[in-house]
Amino acid sequence: MTVPHWKMIIGGKEVDVAGTEPIAIENPANGRVIASVPAGGAAHINAAVNAASEAQREWGAREPIARAVVLEKFARLLRERLSEFIDREVEQIGRPLREMRAQVSRLPEWYEYFAAVARTHEGRVHPFGGPYVNYTRRQPLGVVGVITPWNHPMLILTKKLAPALAAGNAVVAKPSELAPITPIMLAEVLREAGLPDGVYNVVTGDGATAGKELSEHPGIAKIDVTGGTETGRHIGAAAGRNLAGFAAELGGKASVLVFEDVDIDRAVNGVLFASFIAAGQTCVQGARLLVHESILDQVLSRLLTRTKALRLGDPTDLATEIGPLVSKRQLDRVMKYVDIGQSEGATLAAGGQRPGGALADGYYLQPTVFTDVKPGMRIEQEEIFGPVVCVMPFKDEAHAIELANATNFGLAGSVWTRDIARGHRVAQALEMGIVWVNDHHRIDPSSPWGGFKESGIGKENGIVTYEAYTRTQSVVVNVSDESFDWFDDNKTV
Ligand code: NAD
Repeated sequence: MTVPHWKMIIGGKEVDVAGTEPIAIENPANGRVIASVPAGGAAHINAAVNAASEAQREWGAREPIARAVVLEKFARLLRERLSEFIDREVEQIGRPLREMRAQVSRLPEWYEYFAAVARTHEGRVHPFGGPYVNYTRRQPLGVVGVITPWNHPMLILTKKLAPALAAGNAVVAKPSELAPITPIMLAEVLREAGLPDGVYNVVTGDGATAGKELSEHPGIAKIDVTGGTETGRHIGAAAGRNLAGFAAELGGKASVLVFEDVDIDRAVNGVLFASFIAAGQTCVQGARLLVHESILDQVLSRLLTRTKALRLGDPTDLATEIGPLVSKRQLDRVMKYVDIGQSEGATLAAGGQRPGGALADGYYLQPTVFTDVKPGMRIEQEEIFGPVVCVMPFKDEAHAIELANATNFGLAGSVWTRDIARGHRVAQALEMGIVWVNDHHRIDPSSPWGGFKESGIGKENGIVTYEAYTRTQSVVVNVSDESFDWFDDNKTV
């Protein structure tokens, strides 16, 4: 059976690669190939950077308000076509329809928000002193490279694309080789909204070739990546060699801290949401569940009952709660950690098995809970990126904070308590870029998102991200009408 072949988008044209085996895109729910894309390399990255550079001159010279009009129209068009995008997202990554409906439906808000920022965000006047007026202007950076993972293909691209375009940059995107279809589809809608050809380019291919070439290209003013921590180090090193800007959203090992004053049902609802949406394949997944020792048995009993009842199934069915992992490779990796956990002496209290029957051909894994986990075990320190949660008790607030911070990652965590002062106090003590109190996963285009420590550098979302996609020009004007002669012999210094 032939499957659709999606081409790259370079300078507004569809571009294919001759003589190289295309990359097959699989539906992880059944292992069937659903599409293919070209395996792009150095020549395509180079062509895309050149096309972007050419197009950026005109796009970047437009008034921010004119760019905002294009992004606002794009948001409207995207809203009209959401269901096509949602269906393709479900098919290429296996995330359940209920999740992708909720996520993709919000994406137009990012373009609206950054259009509003472009409309209103101005330079500043600075108190220079003397006969000087000093103001700063914001200018676009030029061509930016955007490298994205597979777990939220459109959301993560959008978090980078919306501020980059609003600020007047042109973009060369290198989406994940597992999920490039929706990033390609976006090009057509952007064009319909009035984005000039060449301002948004998509080069498909794997990280070692297309991704590496993009990050090393000297024509790139900034590279913005979301991916694993090792990937971030490679790309950051290349950006450093070129003195290009760099932002990275990397791995995580989020903690969920449950204090003794919670409503147990509400807290367990939160844990299930934190740990098992996206089959655990999110950077902020609740991977470590820290529970006050006095309520450990109650929380565990409720958690295990609810975990075992979660519905695995066809991701296109709205009733499905847990879909497959994205690939056979990812499934093997997570199952290896299920073995590691047991060999380290942790107790497999739920899940850890692949379901059979109708789901046997997909990359499914039952949601998994480990108890008797000790600090320092690999399963509680390393990013598993799957539906696995490690439960550990704590004695008091200080102990909870110590356990939560004892990791090289610093992306996110959540605090569950009815004590408002404790909620704020603990949030402020956590070495994490994002902390929720009595919630998890919540995101908004206005709210800065990004990790501390090995979880990344720089932010997504918020005005800070718009600013990070600009360079500041400082203009100093002497408004005195007196003449000035530095070399006048009578001048006193
Ligand atoms: P990955 O690091 O394997 O790949 C991410 C992207 O980088 C892909 O497009 C890939 O092709 C490219 N790439 C890989 N090696 C490269 C190289 N040497 N040079 C240039 N490009 C390269 O990650 P993944 O498996 O696609 O996604 C999962 C990872 O992403 C997890 O570690 C997760 O925590 C992280 N993530 C972080 C956030 C966040 O907001 N912090 C959000 C989602 C995912």
